[in-house]
Amino acid sequence: MDHYGLVEIEDYERLIGAETVARIKAKAKLLEDLRIVNVNSTYYGGGVSQLLSSTTLLMNRLGLRVGWRTIHGSPDFFSVTKKMHNALQGGDINWSERKQEIYEREVYENSLLNHLTHDIVVVHDPQPLPLIKYYRKGGPWIWRCHIDLGAPNQELWSYLAPYVERYDAAILSSTDYTQDLITPQVFFMPAIDPFSAVNKDMSDDEVAGRLSHHGIPTDLPLIVQVSRFDTWKDPQGVIDAFNIVRQEMPCRLVLLGNVATDDPEGPQVYESLLGQQSDDIIIISYQDMALVNGLQRKAAVVLQKSLREGFGLTVSEAMWKGTPVIGGDVGGIKLQIKDGENGFLVSSVEQAAERIASLLKDPDMAHEMGLKARETVRKKFLLSRYLEQYLDLFNSFETVYRIRP
Ligand code: UDP
Repeated sequence: MDHYGLVEIEDYERLIGAETVARIKAKAKLLEDLRIVNVNSTYYGGGVSQLLSSTTLLMNRLGLRVGWRTIHGSPDFFSVTKKMHNALQGGDINWSERKQEIYEREVYENSLLNHLTHDIVVVHDPQPLPLIKYYRKGGPWIWRCHIDLGAPNQELWSYLAPYVERYDAAILSSTDYTQDLITPQVFFMPAIDPFSAVNKDMSDDEVAGRLSHHGIPTDLPLIVQVSRFDTWKDPQGVIDAFNIVRQEMPCRLVLLGNVATDDPEGPQVYESLLGQQSDDIIIISYQDMALVNGLQRKAAVVLQKSLREGFGLTVSEAMWKGTPVIGGDVGGIKLQIKDGENGFLVSSVEQAAERIASLLKDPDMAHEMGLKARETVRKKFLLSRYLEQYLDLFNSFETVYRIRP
């Protein structure tokens, strides 16, 4: 790390070995003359901004020249794109001409504001997807979709697919999301930055200090879910499961959440839950990564009871801390948790309650699962692996080879 604590690939050596670090550096070296840019729709909130922040910084530390642009949008634009997000995850949408017009016009405006003359352009998620229409490509354009595309709304997907097919590659988080496209599809599971404020080591005293700062008592075992306030994360299901468990044994629920700048539905979801607060159900929204970190460490059980989930960074984050995780048996969570080994997968409120109770009753099993969970993340879900997949993809384009001096 440098004097500002910025991570370098060498910091990963003790986790992934010197050979892997050397291989990553060699692959990065081949790309150091190129200008690369990422475009997404939020600088804060949600997994995409977390990933972009860690990945772009680390790539620059490795000698690549990688930028990160965020598109602007009116509340109407983000209301439309959130509806698109929901529909791509299987919800309904009235894909009206009005919505299309708002979407297309504001993406066009953004194309006037951003001069993307880079050698490689990576566009994230549907919000900025049509940008590609407005540029003369200087090299490959890649669409990186972070959403659970397991069963997208077909009307919307037929509208978006022609845009995706203008790209040179599409990156999806799971092979379960494969689409019928002429564009080559590659599959990168996201990953966590073990050195970020959310994941870095914390002492017991630091954890206790963070929780007490926010008034969270620790006299009872904590059941925790950390998520954007979004109905896909099933916060109501978490409360219902907790209410079943607490009839049997004393425990406390903490729902910590935030709202992404491109998600206008978040405040409403948050407010709809507040009536259920009590001494044992704490529902909070603080922008405090050390609190996320501390809660994931202190929790007896972490839940991620999503109904759809592109990947779910919060799952790997908690697993990295050796905390047993109960996840919804959906999307990217299935890639992280092997049911009954390094955590549990559940499909109903009752099942979630049963698994919470079994982990609270059997601390040895919980500890054992937590150890396996941490090892799973070390082997499969650290950012160094994700970074190397990007380098391999960038290096694979013939056009990149051609434009190299
Ligand atoms: N997060 C946070 N504060 C909160 C809730 C979430 O910092 O109150 C972080 C969380 O730790 C994770 C990211 O936001 O790094 C959420 O990513 P995930 O992939 O789990 O879900 P998404 O929001 O992208 O659907």
